[in-house]
Amino acid sequence: EVETDLYFTTHQDAQRILKPRKKFSHKGIYGHALLLCGGFGKMGAAVLAARACLRSGVGLLTLQVPSAGYSILQTAVPEAMTLSDKNRKHLSELPQDIEKYNVIGIGPGLGTERVTKTTIGQLLSTSTHNLVIDADAINIIASSEKLKASLPKNKVIFTPHPKELERLIGKSNNDYDRLRDMLEFCHEYQCYIVLKGNNSAIGTPEGNLYFNTTGNPGMATGGTGDVLTGIITALVAQNYTLEEACILGVYVHGLAGDLALKSVGDIAMIASDVTDHLPQAFMHLQ
Ligand code: AMP
Ligand code: MG
Repeated sequence: EVETDLYFTTHQDAQRILKPRKKFSHKGIYGHALLLCGGFGKMGAAVLAARACLRSGVGLLTLQVPSAGYSILQTAVPEAMTLSDKNRKHLSELPQDIEKYNVIGIGPGLGTERVTKTTIGQLLSTSTHNLVIDADAINIIASSEKLKASLPKNKVIFTPHPKELERLIGKSNNDYDRLRDMLEFCHEYQCYIVLKGNNSAIGTPEGNLYFNTTGNPGMATGGTGDVLTGIITALVAQNYTLEEACILGVYVHGLAGDLALKSVGDIAMIASDVTDHLPQAFMHLQ
């Protein structure tokens, strides 16, 4: 049985984690993130993750999307560099020069095609990167014991919603057991899990459990999870530890949602509103 320490993230905690930008810095200091997101009919997930990543301080961002998404991304996100997969609809290959990125965010909008599954298998068995794994990338890994067994240790952050968590770690008897089972998985695979929902919970390999204190039901709308993937990926790119990136990322995502609540309300809120309030959220923490 893992011994657990429980925490609630306060505004001061988030402020302490956030690092100031250095006066004599250049974009090379703030990391180069790679996002593998988007699929046919779901290129919006890549746009959402990319914009949130850029709004979270990353130095450089490259995306690889299926070729049908190439002009969509170049048009919607001019700040990002875009690579085109040889496959028109699905992730089917890893980019060249993959070593140059210092974090890879993968999952939103991917779909679960066989080629994509193979590509994720290649990534897990060859990459030395820190990985932020969400959405269909979680579903793909959950469906294969072989992929689970090839997860690199101390490199992975999973960001599942409750259904994705259940696919990954199995069914739990109740909410309490679910958190215990989640921590056991974190320990066994030496990974971090962000269980999203109201009061998102973060589990670490050491058995720490952090509950978030920001966010609101306006965020229960398509795409807000993709925004979180972009934020956490950007923080890892900037050399925050995986634990810091989870705590700060989830906090600032919820804070941006709370600021969006004041301007658009909870009924009309869409995922882009959360990204649009990231500037204010980060400024609140400085
Ligand atoms: P996803 O299901 O992947 O789109 O992720 C949804 C995002 O919205 C997660 O970051 C959740 O924590 C957040 N969210 C969803 N519903 C609520 C809620 N009722 N209260 C606070 N945050 C929420
Ligand atoms: Mg999601």
